[in-house]
Amino acid sequence: MIHIILFGPPGCGKGTQAKIISKKFGFIHLSTGMIFRNHIKKETNLGKFASSYINKGILVPDIITTDMLNIEIRKHFYSKGIIYDGYPRTKNQIISLEKILGNFFSETIDIIFYFSIQKNLIINRLLRRGKISRRNDDINIAIVQKRIKEYEKETSLIWDNNPKWINNIIKINASLSVETISLFIEKKIKKFLKKKNN
Ligand code: ADP
Repeated sequence: MIHIILFGPPGCGKGTQAKIISKKFGFIHLSTGMIFRNHIKKETNLGKFASSYINKGILVPDIITTDMLNIEIRKHFYSKGIIYDGYPRTKNQIISLEKILGNFFSETIDIIFYFSIQKNLIINRLLRRGKISRRNDDINIAIVQKRIKEYEKETSLIWDNNPKWINNIIKINASLSVETISLFIEKKIKKFLKKKNN
């Protein structure tokens, strides 16, 4: 089994790539944002609680997010691989993920695809996406800007200053086309799997 993280700012294309790659390899796609939105749609208690953070463009508290994700991860013991899209976003979430991967699968984080892109490009992308998807947190420019700030402040540096991750991180230029990026990711995953199976 392989554990792949897609990491980067809102609007960098993580979700799009997660869909393409999970389909291609038959992996499970876990998006914390999507799981939260499902809860909101179903009006669960968790959804009601999370929406007050999501609508402000700030992170949902770690304990809520990690508990929710751990429940999802446990459903996929027999899968070939999992793609984590939008998780982890804090150091606590990294620790929690390492813990469950170790305890539940006896495994570790394999690859971290690190998307980077200019800020003005992502703002435009998110506002365009908001018009199509009607996602509350994409329609409003103030919330979009808050999400980017939140990423810069709380998330962007979580892998840095820890030599442990140096060999797991693969950088991606997220301003390239969807197809170029997905082919790049595919090649890297195949290379990793080949090495693992040898
Ligand atoms: P985007 O990547 O465009 O911000 P997501 O769907 O990944 O969109 O996330 C939407 C919102 O859900 C975030 O702004 C945040 O409030 C919440 N969220 C998603 N993932 C996490 C996470 N790992 N930790 C805390 N909050 C999260």
